[in-house]
Amino acid sequence: MKFQPRASHFIDGEYVEDTNGAAIEVIYPATGEVIARLHSATPAIVEQALNSAKNAQAAWAALSGTERGRILRRASDIMRERNYDLSVLETHDTGKPIQETTVADATSGADALEYFGGLAASLTGEHIPLGGGDFVYTIREALGVCVGIGAWNYPTQIACWKGAPALACGNTMVFKPSETTPLSALKVAEILVEAGAPKGVYNVIQGYGDVGASLVSDPRVAKVSLTGSVPTGRKVYAAAADGMKHVTMELGGKSPMIVFDDADIENAVSGAILGNFYSSGQVCSNGTRVFVQKGIKEAFLKRLSERLAHAKIGDPMDEDVSFGPMVSENQMNIALGYIEKGKAEGARLVYGGERIERDGYFVQPTVFADVTDNMTIAREEIFGPVMSVLVFETEEEVMARANDTEFGLAAGVFTNDLTRAHRIVAGFEAGTCYINTYNLAPVEAPFGGSKMSGVGRENSKLAINHFSEMKTVYVSMNDVEAPY
Ligand code: NAD
Repeated sequence: MKFQPRASHFIDGEYVEDTNGAAIEVIYPATGEVIARLHSATPAIVEQALNSAKNAQAAWAALSGTERGRILRRASDIMRERNYDLSVLETHDTGKPIQETTVADATSGADALEYFGGLAASLTGEHIPLGGGDFVYTIREALGVCVGIGAWNYPTQIACWKGAPALACGNTMVFKPSETTPLSALKVAEILVEAGAPKGVYNVIQGYGDVGASLVSDPRVAKVSLTGSVPTGRKVYAAAADGMKHVTMELGGKSPMIVFDDADIENAVSGAILGNFYSSGQVCSNGTRVFVQKGIKEAFLKRLSERLAHAKIGDPMDEDVSFGPMVSENQMNIALGYIEKGKAEGARLVYGGERIERDGYFVQPTVFADVTDNMTIAREEIFGPVMSVLVFETEEEVMARANDTEFGLAAGVFTNDLTRAHRIVAGFEAGTCYINTYNLAPVEAPFGGSKMSGVGRENSKLAINHFSEMKTVYVSMNDVEAPY
């Protein structure tokens, strides 16, 4: 098999196998064909990975930030040089079109390695002068062994968004990719070693939820960063709390996108397309509740349908294809189930709504209009190519409706009224907001959610605070005064 890795796990700088672990079949979502066979980590593999990360950590943290940063930046260069091959692998692992994976996966991972590699040398504490000559200085220290657990939609990106800041700060990592897309994280581990990362600094083990759970509860682990659904987030957060571990939670969403009648319709339609159908809708921050102001509803829907007719659906390895399959049969069935619920609850289907009759797990880009706030498709995260269009009249009304959700990952507004745009964004209960665009996530900017959508932020300088802690040192320049 062309995509079969040398072994399932990558520990202490080497590929490792234990065939006693439960089988994991890797399926190319465009055809249903098995492209690799792996094994979930056994307790022995988990033990080996955690020991390796633990043993490597002190020496890694003792390198200068410049040295650590150089290794990360070298890894970034290698990823960029191999972008095409990595993208082919990612396309087979996820089903996302090669048109997307060549610009949004290894390249995004490389950005994170480059950015945090660049920051590594400048990570410091501070000097705090006190009265009478005393002072405090702080030392920024690594947390220790960090665990990364990934979702299946952006496997390379997630492996790097977690690994790069962790390693920059002097931590080591055990990363568990999603069992649905286990392949590309192994390549990230290989590349880091090739770039000079000492053995054990970045380990990858495969597995289902139970493997993730055993990592989270291990006392050697200081921090857990999860990308996944809210139900999983709840479990992982609770298990981490038991050991008082640091957490970053990047969870699900049901984000609003508001289109006012003064907006540039063409841009708003583009934003709605990107925010609902990129990666076949399998993006956490998608703006799946599209609130359109009453006067432009029909014009918006007409233009949207015209533009969707140009989506090229097919073999994701074809460079002209812009819309591929969903990641798995299971995820396809979830999306189709929501489409049926939308129809049954009275939403008006204006585009798509069916499985595409061909091999693989293809669902048509689907748009529902006349969606109301209480319909299931307007309340629950679908994680598939299903857009709900809702109508609103006033700013006050739409603000309240947009925020009426347990989620708070992202939110967007399209309007040409500058003050209204900022007023709306100030009112959004969401971590990542957009004005006149949607779903961009550059490494320089914090990314993450409020409310049930998460805790902490990835990317940007803020990520450093989530992968390090401060030691405070009080220095007295005076005699010690005691009362007796
Ligand atoms: P999931 O929650 O089913 O699984 C996520 C990961 O957690 C997998 O690796 C899984 O094996 C592991 N896991 C499951 N149970 C566990 C447990 N008890 N302890 C430890 N680990 C466990 O999510 P998914 O289906 O892989 O991904 C889709 C979800 O991820 C969606 O809700 C989506 O919104 C979210 N997501 C969020 C972001 C973000 O940055 N906020 C990005 C991508 C995806």
